[in-house]
Amino acid sequence: MALHLRGTLLPDGTARDLWILGDRIAFDRPSIEADTVADGGFLLPGLVDVHTHPGSPSEGEPAFDPDAFADQIAAHRDAGTTALRFPGLLGEIPEGLRAAPDVPRMITAGRWLAWAGLSKNADFHTVTDDLVAAAVAETKAHDGWCKLMGDWDFEADPVPYDILRAVTDAVHAVGGRVAAHCQSAQGVLNAARAGVDSIEHGMGMPEECVGLMAAQGAAYVPTLTPFARRAPQIIDTPRGRLWHEGHRIMIRRVREAHDAGVTVLAGTDSAPFGNVATEVEHLVAAGLPADVAVGPASWAARDFLGLPGLVEGGLADVTVYDADPRVEPGVLRHPRRIILRGRVVR
Ligand SMILES: [Zn+2]
Repeated sequence: MALHLRGTLLPDGTARDLWILGDRIAFDRPSIEADTVADGGFLLPGLVDVHTHPGSPSEGEPAFDPDAFADQIAAHRDAGTTALRFPGLLGEIPEGLRAAPDVPRMITAGRWLAWAGLSKNADFHTVTDDLVAAAVAETKAHDGWCKLMGDWDFEADPVPYDILRAVTDAVHAVGGRVAAHCQSAQGVLNAARAGVDSIEHGMGMPEECVGLMAAQGAAYVPTLTPFARRAPQIIDTPRGRLWHEGHRIMIRRVREAHDAGVTVLAGTDSAPFGNVATEVEHLVAAGLPADVAVGPASWAARDFLGLPGLVEGGLADVTVYDADPRVEPGVLRHPRRIILRGRVVR
């Protein structure tokens, strides 16, 4: 039995019928019987969170727990998130779970790789003095992505440009992509100049990085949600003032990056999981027009990850909403229907 849906497809905004056969979307009525599971509403290829780290039983716990991982990706799924990118995981995705029928599509970059010469590291980092070899190995062992610490925080020295450049060139040479955590002005600049594929956080991003990212096709993943949550707790000390200044700059760069043609994408970083609708609201607050702020958490993210959306032959992930999320982003919190890998989840 096929599934049948009718509604307004996003992003193109056309009202039409679509059918689901196995894990594929078809625009022509199939010869087999079809069960209508949505009639009306707005159809998305699901939500996407491109920066999330499930697997830890509690925040700040540097251990991978397979049960916590399963619970947290289920929370993503139940929120209508159909694809996830993990730019850093504490462990390997449990065998069998990756291809399970009821889990979002997963793209992992493996561990957080930190150069041994960094002035600061966290206990969950994999510290290496050969960042090039480690990055290539992690890229090959996972889904064509590696995750680098370009720095640790806004007061720490970053990885030197030459090393980042060598890593990026080596990973690109094997067909992979680099996600770089950057929270210092110099760290962001080094990463942007080195040609990484996505800049994560980008606190304190110098203005010139916007043009560099646009020219190189790098995405910007600001992860505004966790920063907004932390902001009220950062007290007025010299370090706190630097934090707030870096935060203000990253918010400003979101709109500038979008205006310059940079692909801005939505990521939530830490718990609670299944929260990417919140990131869309923060992107709107940062100045993205509401009608473009949904793409970073859906079709634009799928394009970036190489996952076809609501097109003939596309992958069969669909979420249905009662209102147009480009007008009312808040409706993303309330999917009426969730279809994942061709199966009805809700
Ligand atoms: Zn992160």
